[in-house]
Amino acid sequence: MRKKIAYNRKKKLEKKPTRPKNRCDDCIPAKCCMYFSVEIDEPENRKDWDDMLWILAHRDVQIYMNDDRWYVLVMNECRFYTPDRGCLIYPKRPLICRAHTWKDCEFKDDYNFDLHFHNYEELERYLRNNPQ
Ligand code: SF4
Ligand code: SF4
Repeated sequence: MRKKIAYNRKKKLEKKPTRPKNRCDDCIPAKCCMYFSVEIDEPENRKDWDDMLWILAHRDVQIYMNDDRWYVLVMNECRFYTPDRGCLIYPKRPLICRAHTWKDCEFKDDYNFDLHFHNYEELERYLRNNPQ
């Protein structure tokens, strides 16, 4: 009888396989709902670079390039996001939101873009040092 008890206790202590934790639970406000980015044409001449300066003259806008693809990043949160309830339109959220998962997301904020201009002054400095 004693033996059986010992066996049962051992079984209880065995570690159950754990599911990977969903990082979204710790991500408030949800980083991925705080901005959007749109691909733009690669700048090819002085006018294109000047247009990029004009874009960066606006508030809360950045530009980055990664793998030879250029993007405008608009730091403007989605109007359907709330910190306490999350996405207010979750069942009918757009496809782009459905496709985005915590398994490959910006939670750790460790993206290193090839080029990243956070504001007008950064691009102006870049153009001064790298005349186009
Ligand atoms: S997908 Fe990533 S960035 Fe978005 S809420 Fe989840 S952990 Fe945060
Ligand atoms: S629709 Fe919902 S999931 Fe998509 S960005 Fe807005 S709050 Fe986030």
